Amino acid sequence: MTTVPIDVDLYSDTVTKPTAAMRRFMCDAEVGDEQKGEDPTVNALQARVAELLGKEAAVFLPSGTMCNEIAMRVHCRPGDEMIAHRTAHPIHFESGGPAALAGVNVRAIDGPRGQFDAAAVEEAIRPENRYFPRSRLVWVEQTSNLGGGSVWPRERVEQIAAVARRHGLRTHLDGARVMNAVIATGVSAASWAAPFDSAWIDFTKGLGAPVGAALAGSRDFITEAWRLKQQMGGAMRQAGIIAAGALWALTHHVERLADDHANARRLARGLAVLPGVKLDPDEVETNIVIFDVTGPLAAPAVVARLLERGVRMGALGPRTVRAVTHLDVDTAGIDRALDAARTVLR
Ligand SMILES: *Cc1c(COP(=O)(O)O)cnc(C)c1O
Repeated sequence: MTTVPIDVDLYSDTVTKPTAAMRRFMCDAEVGDEQKGEDPTVNALQARVAELLGKEAAVFLPSGTMCNEIAMRVHCRPGDEMIAHRTAHPIHFESGGPAALAGVNVRAIDGPRGQFDAAAVEEAIRPENRYFPRSRLVWVEQTSNLGGGSVWPRERVEQIAAVARRHGLRTHLDGARVMNAVIATGVSAASWAAPFDSAWIDFTKGLGAPVGAALAGSRDFITEAWRLKQQMGGAMRQAGIIAAGALWALTHHVERLADDHANARRLARGLAVLPGVKLDPDEVETNIVIFDVTGPLAAPAVVARLLERGVRMGALGPRTVRAVTHLDVDTAGIDRALDAARTVLR
């Protein structure tokens, strides 16, 4: 088998390369010693994210995973329990971090499209009893990655946070793709983050920057987060070089997420009519398309055959495929991906 170069890469929105303009901006960034608080570009980014998310302070971190793990450690003591959807990122993709780093017991709860509701949280919160782990934290992923990029409705999020507060629990927003929710709904990032004690955004997903994420919360929360950033080796030096990419992305790559959403819908509509594809295009709200294949080929085979035609998607399970749109895929690319899918699935 000859390997074909990847023409349309829908594997993830993390595959984007920094644009020429972003690289130039990064090149010219003013820098200093970040961990001493002396990098003006990092400081500007942190101030901007704090304002964007409506929190007192923010800290720049090397990755979204570190935002999650640090937040968990600030909110919880070892043995505490956090309530999260069974598809939540830390359960599957953080290398056992909740157990290894935070010592947190994860109570995984269910619900359609990566979401649960306030009643499910209420039911999962444990009464005070020395046999039980102490319920401490409620975790929401906006948008839900494995839920197909679904946007948690505002009311649902507020009800969940109200239940958590009533029981004295903390709340955390994994906002890896919260800017996609902002563009899909017109609701501001600060409004999405408001019900939560901590929230973060990733610069390396749809925003298209090469490195980094920023975690926001109260001043006290961020002071603690900084201690753990230092402890976990996440404190950097002239990090303004990479923070500049994030600043550029916040200015230039947010509104355009609407193009990714339109491309995802176009892809979903084209896929949904193919034989053996189980997909409701109306459920595609943002930049993630998850579908099942029910025909003779299982998902890994479908993905392998697409790859032979220069189209990369990911197999999430034996019958489940994920495709993600981003700034390096245009509408013509979506149409080429659909051509390939037609050939493979016919
Ligand atoms: C990608 C992702 C993360 C982790 O972010 P990294 O920057 O890749 O470490 C966390 N949560 C969700 C929902 C994600 O999609």
